[in-house]
Amino acid sequence: MLQPGIIPDKEPLIRVGIILPEDRYTSVSIVIPQSPAYQIDFSGRHVALEAGAELYFKYSRDSIHFSASGKSFTAPNDIHISPVQDEKQIKPGQGLLVKNVISGRDFHWKKYINAVYSGKLIIQRHKDRLMMINELPIEHYLMCVATSEMGAACPEALIEAQTITARSWMLANVEQKHVALGMDVCNDDCCQRYQGTTYLTAQSIEGALNTYGQVLIYKDKICDARYSKSCGGVMEAYENIWPGPALPYLQIKADAAEEPPEWNKPLSDENNFSAWVNSVPQTFCSPLTIPENELKQYLGSVDEDGQYFRWQEKITQPELISSLKQFRGLDVTSVLNISILERGGSGRAKKAAVDYTDSNGSSRQDILQDEYSIRRALHKKFLYSSAFTVTKMEDDSFNLKGAGWGHGAGLCQIGALGMSLKNYNSREIVLHYYPGSILKRIY
Ligand SMILES: [Zn+2]
Ligand SMILES: [Zn+2]
Repeated sequence: MLQPGIIPDKEPLIRVGIILPEDRYTSVSIVIPQSPAYQIDFSGRHVALEAGAELYFKYSRDSIHFSASGKSFTAPNDIHISPVQDEKQIKPGQGLLVKNVISGRDFHWKKYINAVYSGKLIIQRHKDRLMMINELPIEHYLMCVATSEMGAACPEALIEAQTITARSWMLANVEQKHVALGMDVCNDDCCQRYQGTTYLTAQSIEGALNTYGQVLIYKDKICDARYSKSCGGVMEAYENIWPGPALPYLQIKADAAEEPPEWNKPLSDENNFSAWVNSVPQTFCSPLTIPENELKQYLGSVDEDGQYFRWQEKITQPELISSLKQFRGLDVTSVLNISILERGGSGRAKKAAVDYTDSNGSSRQDILQDEYSIRRALHKKFLYSSAFTVTKMEDDSFNLKGAGWGHGAGLCQIGALGMSLKNYNSREIVLHYYPGSILKRIY
């Protein structure tokens, strides 16, 4: 596993959680490919696996049961399936096929996919459930991550910039959300979306090879290179989204070569922000740079008709009541008002108040303390961003007008696409989004 705060001097192996305890799996099927050759290791035994065989693992009575090469086995824990020889290079679709893996865990777009993984798969028991980890060299992981986030027509500079960002974020290893489970990251948007070699492309392999071992460094530390889909025109500062001290390379900055005239500072001011959200400035992520209906060919994970730079969302009373019950546990019968109490430099709300009536008819207030809580509480599908204005309508619904998609700190994926289409190279792109950092090859 990665060690926080340590800059590796050779390419590390990383452990990616594919099936987590919260997924509640008690069985899983894995298909062995025709090549290369694989073996299974458990309880000190090694068994060669037949090409094309499907292995079915099931948890019951404190053990994991499975059959391989026509025989049944039981292991208490820790089953490793690995290629007999280390993989020097990976190809699209190479590896072990795992059936019905969750994609979009915890989100409205959650679905089950069959995914293929290079490297080693480790099946473990966690209480009465199964867990699965994919262990592989970080550069192979990065090739796959770039593809999972990007569409096929992506310019090379964008894939390279995305790969440098993902590598830096991984190696900075600050979040460690799943470290207690022995995982460096999970396979989903909670960390970075990773679907193995399933959608791997020649381009993303190139993107990783071209930037092999390159990371962003600030004052002798690898940058915690956060990124999101669209900043909405101005990048947000780290400290306005997450707890802890500011990071100098994640700062409030226009996502443009020059500050747009529409940006009246600061956007934490309600009037300035209201004018901003109603404008369409010329920035790298603006539809003036790339029309939003053309995004799909570059960024795989966007909707065909999505509007991200500026968006509107009408939320009815019943919808809002149901979200507040579900995500805040509130006893609420009607919502009187939503007010923004504090905004960051991109206009992202970092504190908001919901005034409501409870089932006794009493007036109450719920304070949403950060960007994530605001996006989570107010919309069943998770709001695009917390940079929005609220207007209460005559029918008691709320009309939200917003900017951007995601937290807006660091690299703006749609903006980085805009830059790459304007022929900026990957180095120029990452240095734009992480000002003050340097790009360095560490292994
Ligand atoms: Zn995660
Ligand atoms: Zn942007």
